[in-house]
Amino acid sequence: MTSTRVAPIHLVLVGAGHAHLAVIASAARLRAAGVHPVLIAPATFDYSGLATGVLSGALSTGSARIDIATLTRKHDVPHTVAEVIGIDRPARILALENGSQAAYDVVSFNIGSTVEAPQDWIGRDGVWPVKPLSSLFALRAALEAHMAAGSTPPAIVVAGDGPTGFEIAAALTGLHQRHGCAVNLTLTGPKADARWAPGSAGHSMTRSLDRRGVKRVLAQVVAHEPGHVSLSDGQTLACDHLVLATGLRASILTQTLDLPLDDRGRIKVAPILCSIADNRVFAAGDCATIKGDPRPFAGVFGVRAADVLIDNLCALGTGTKPRPYRPQKHWLSIMDLGDDTGLAMRDGLWWQGRLALALKRRLDLGFVARSRT
Ligand SMILES: Cc1cc2nc3c(=O)[nH]c(=O)nc-3n(C[C@H](O)[C@H](O)[C@H](O)COP(=O)(O)OP(=O)(O)OC[C@H]3O[C@@H](n4cnc5c(N)ncnc54)[C@H](O)[C@@H]3O)c2cc1C
Repeated sequence: MTSTRVAPIHLVLVGAGHAHLAVIASAARLRAAGVHPVLIAPATFDYSGLATGVLSGALSTGSARIDIATLTRKHDVPHTVAEVIGIDRPARILALENGSQAAYDVVSFNIGSTVEAPQDWIGRDGVWPVKPLSSLFALRAALEAHMAAGSTPPAIVVAGDGPTGFEIAAALTGLHQRHGCAVNLTLTGPKADARWAPGSAGHSMTRSLDRRGVKRVLAQVVAHEPGHVSLSDGQTLACDHLVLATGLRASILTQTLDLPLDDRGRIKVAPILCSIADNRVFAAGDCATIKGDPRPFAGVFGVRAADVLIDNLCALGTGTKPRPYRPQKHWLSIMDLGDDTGLAMRDGLWWQGRLALALKRRLDLGFVARSRT
């Protein structure tokens, strides 16, 4: 009797985002299906659900951080600590920032998003994009050092009046309150009134920020110079720290893949989560969008896509039929308002208070604890 041994499929996971955390934890199942995963990603992953809790000083940085090296060791997944910077799709080779290369049979991207802002602002002193989240943790450290020195409160400008801009403004106000310091913070944006929230929730949240001393200006930041910003209405504001909460777009790397993308740079994928133009390229989370079924940037979609992604990667090895991912039409989102309360929203309903934040903490700390195992 002769037996044919089929070579295992070499799967490269790029980025340890929400979906890939679950793929790593399912490595044994993948290997049993004939799919051998390796990971290329930074050493740690920061979980966004707890980011504003860290920024407000309520939580430690460590509570939002997952050590990827420990996780990959546990699941026997070879891990290269690096970022991917390019791809040669015909040759199936990835280029890494450290100058090395990695070949693949199948590649899966879960590399998240970046801030939509003039790229030359990012990296300037005193400019803090909301992604990567480590930038917010560094901002907290800078402000705490300032407060410890007892100097006058620095002028903070938050650019962006969407949910992220409001949550950041609330968290920074909370950080100052925790340290017993006055806050000098201006939230800017074309509306600056939280009308994106359902019913009267936006009004309630805006009033609460007003009461806590946040100034709101209905204009956009159009230029940044050391010490000040210029606004679209012609005003100039003093600015020691500019936080960029100006919206998200897929990680820049997607633009180099020569694959169909949407207007936010997200890889267009079929419902089975592979690119509509290359069935050897999978993608999930903020860097992907299901053609004809787009969703906002939110971690929940990466988390929910994970089971389908795992099944479909296993299907490559077993030859079974892949199944579609149908992103849910309704989801709960809870904002941390930085004062030990939260704002929970689902469809047109909302609920603000301590219990909303307690539920958020339970869900988010639970996710991090589960993902570490
Ligand atoms: C302040 C803030 C608060 C938020 N709060 C919430 C919330 O409460 N709930 C919610 O659902 N969403 C929230 N979001 C949105 C959420 O952050 C994103 O939707 C979510 O992180 C997307 O998950 P992801 O798995 O696609 O990517 P990410 O979580 O960003 O993970 C991608 C990973 O890939 C790595 N990576 C990036 N580029 C490369 C590369 N080239 N090579 C290798 N690795 C790479 C990154 O280091 C990162 O670890 C928040 C966003 C912000 C800015």
